[in-house]
Amino acid sequence: MTAVELPTTDTRPGRVEVHGVHKSYAGVEVLHGVDLVVEPGTVTVVLGPSGSGKSTLLRSINHLEKVDRGFVALDGELVGYRRKPHRGRERLHELQEKEVLRQRTRFGFVFQSFNLFPHLTALDNVVEAPVSAQGRGRREVEAEARELLARVGLAGREGAYPRQLSGGQQQRVAIARALAMRPAVLLFDEPTSALDPELVGEVLAVMEDLARSGTTMIVVTHEIGFAREVADQVVFMDEGRVVEQGPPEQVIDAPQHDRTRAFLARVL
Ligand code: ADP
Ligand code: MG
Repeated sequence: MTAVELPTTDTRPGRVEVHGVHKSYAGVEVLHGVDLVVEPGTVTVVLGPSGSGKSTLLRSINHLEKVDRGFVALDGELVGYRRKPHRGRERLHELQEKEVLRQRTRFGFVFQSFNLFPHLTALDNVVEAPVSAQGRGRREVEAEARELLARVGLAGREGAYPRQLSGGQQQRVAIARALAMRPAVLLFDEPTSALDPELVGEVLAVMEDLARSGTTMIVVTHEIGFAREVADQVVFMDEGRVVEQGPPEQVIDAPQHDRTRAFLARVL
């Protein structure tokens, strides 16, 4: 990769900058130049129809996908690349896998499908990564994991296995597990889409609590009520582009684009 426009020098923890990101799969471009800035301590909700590129954007942010053009920066540091001087200019060098993995732990990822380890208790699901990936001491991590499980409303269920928990409880374990890595940013990809309707509220309540306490979050969801209540900015994507973005009062209650209006009419 050669020179691109480089990120600003704003290095506050949790600041995410997505600049001109293009991404193709097998020659078909699915992100056509996405720009996005997420300020530390804010919540960004990404809305858009199925196939519009929302998951690809999240996966590009934590470098699960390598972008074709543009860049992503976290805390002013490029994700996936290192800047090196080269004959009086700057060049980008790909980071080694180990360094990419280190960077990736700065992002907590919560999936639609929970992805808990079925053979581990709730507590051990939360404890696993900080111990194995961050090399922290089990006793210290366990104490923190208990606090995190209490925070997501699961005090007393530490010893339960995933199959003994409802979908809503499993997703709350998954949130505690993401938090245990002490990430700078939490990424959520349709965290309530796989849940029975009566279980959606308990997961959204936990996310709202995290938002109120200043966690930087990027949330892909169709929960318009959550977006209206909690989001600092709403981003509407369609066909691999950001069609409009702004505060919820603007994007949800006074959308400027026909495609946003048509989408909202379908989901509201
Ligand atoms: P959304 O999350 O908004 O539903 P995605 O980011 O999953 O959208 O997908 C955007 C487009 O990229 C879709 O057309 C999808 O089929 C395609 N796509 C996503 N992931 C892959 C992949 N791994 N290989 C090929 N095509 C993909
Ligand atoms: Mg998706």
